[in-house]
Amino acid sequence: MVINRHPGKLFIISGPSGAGKGTIANRILEETALEFSVSMTTRKPREGEIDGVHYFFVEEETFVKNIEEDGFLEHAQVYGNRYGTPKGPILERLEKGIDVLLDIEMQGALQIRENYPGGVFIFIIPPSLEELRRRLTNRGTETAEAIELRLSNTITELRYIDKYDYLVVNDDLEEAVERVKSIIIAEHSKVALTPEELVREYTEGEEE
Ligand code: ADP
Ligand code: 5GP
Repeated sequence: MVINRHPGKLFIISGPSGAGKGTIANRILEETALEFSVSMTTRKPREGEIDGVHYFFVEEETFVKNIEEDGFLEHAQVYGNRYGTPKGPILERLEKGIDVLLDIEMQGALQIRENYPGGVFIFIIPPSLEELRRRLTNRGTETAEAIELRLSNTITELRYIDKYDYLVVNDDLEEAVERVKSIIIAEHSKVALTPEELVREYTEGEEE
């Protein structure tokens, strides 16, 4: 049987704060073989967050040391805290053919686009700014002032849509999850064999 085998792929989910990236990422991790890249952050854990599962929660010095040792694929300052994607675990998985999922904000996604052009970049947005405001308010993790800052940053981020491969509007959650899963399937359906490889694999065992 012919296998259109792909190397491990890096899927980057990005978009404004409150877009639903985390919600969609959790569903993708439950329903596909993708593995999550656990980021390092200087932010304090929220209630229910587990060190090593949701993030590696570290002090500033540890974070800076990691930058100096070239340990990040990308890193950025987001709303007063630092976040970075540890390089080692990702490269190891990609080499083994395992797909990796990243949930990161735009500055980081753009850095990866520069340094790792093989990534698949998916931009997630809610259906409108009004709905984004509603979701951030309902989530209850930010002050009113912090929400307004996120909304104004969102407009700036929309201007970078041309740096992404896919746009998913997260209106109905089920549909958005299905779309992201379809993107993963489509990426794995891209031609990965040369004509010679395809003919050889297809005719294996046939008489010359
Ligand atoms: P992000 O990770 O992009 O900051 P979250 O995943 O935390 O966003 O989602 C922000 C809020 O919106 C959460 O309270 C989440 O439950 C809610 N949410 C996510 N997707 C939807 C959706 N399709 N419809 C309604 N609410 C949603
Ligand atoms: P939160 O503090 O709400 O978990 O995350 C804040 C923002 O940081 C989100 O937009 C999230 O996607 C982003 N983020 C999480 N991890 C990383 C990372 O490793 N690098 C970058 N650049 N952003 C990250």
